[in-house]
Amino acid sequence: FKRIPLSDQSKDELQVMGVSFNRMIERLERNYNQQQQFLSDASHELKTPITVIESYSSLLKRWGMKDAAIQEEAVEAIHHEAIRMKKLTEHLLQAASQSEPSVDMEEKIELISFCEQIAQTFRRTGNREINIQSEFKEIYAMIISSKLEQVLVILLDNAMKYSESGIKILINQQGNEVFIGVKDQGVGISPEHLLHVFERFYRVDSSRARKTGGNGLGLSIARSIVESFGGKLEIQSEVGEGTSVTIILSHQILI
Ligand code: ADP
Repeated sequence: FKRIPLSDQSKDELQVMGVSFNRMIERLERNYNQQQQFLSDASHELKTPITVIESYSSLLKRWGMKDAAIQEEAVEAIHHEAIRMKKLTEHLLQAASQSEPSVDMEEKIELISFCEQIAQTFRRTGNREINIQSEFKEIYAMIISSKLEQVLVILLDNAMKYSESGIKILINQQGNEVFIGVKDQGVGISPEHLLHVFERFYRVDSSRARKTGGNGLGLSIARSIVESFGGKLEIQSEVGEGTSVTIILSHQILI
């Protein structure tokens, strides 16, 4: 073989290719590690309710027929854990589907009445006051409504779990931006935890979250859905005062 000397330009091009190849490998590696972490966290989360269900059902099998108190305790615990597991698997599916391209169609919706409909189901099932406030009569957007509903359900679910009093939904428009905020007057979150609440499986107080059925996935799913709209999800909170989570949309707004 005869060696052909490389020109300076070819050397530069090769160097650029090398850098971009390395970056691609790093990205793939990060992605792979995240997937592995997700899988192991998800299995860990599923293990706890399964263990509780298994031990309570063994207890029922052994002593339950004779002891009414055991029957009641076991059925209650199994039911609670089954509901937790159902919510967790729903969230796992939602989290997994976020990494796939969506085939759903955007549609034109009026945001205030859309929020009203969702609030109504929460009022009925949660027996809680939910107030909708807006300076506008109507605000229109082109959006995948099922996805926006998923986000609102997560935020309202949290507001119900971590507060006892009324909840407000504030919807406003400023220029081509729309703000949909879910505001509660509950326990609030301290600044050091607030930095992490959008991370997958992060919970401020896992024993409390276990009781309320939390799994630490809700806010991370909500954020990735809002980001898939090209929007932002922001949180403000003060311990003992309450929490406010705001969806900020701009691309979809129809003025
Ligand atoms: P979870 O399913 O545990 O509620 P999320 O991802 O939705 O998971 O929230 C993460 C953590 O942030 C929760 O465990 C809770 O500690 C805290 N959090 C979320 N929303 C609120 C809220 N409205 N008020 C107080 N704490 C909240």
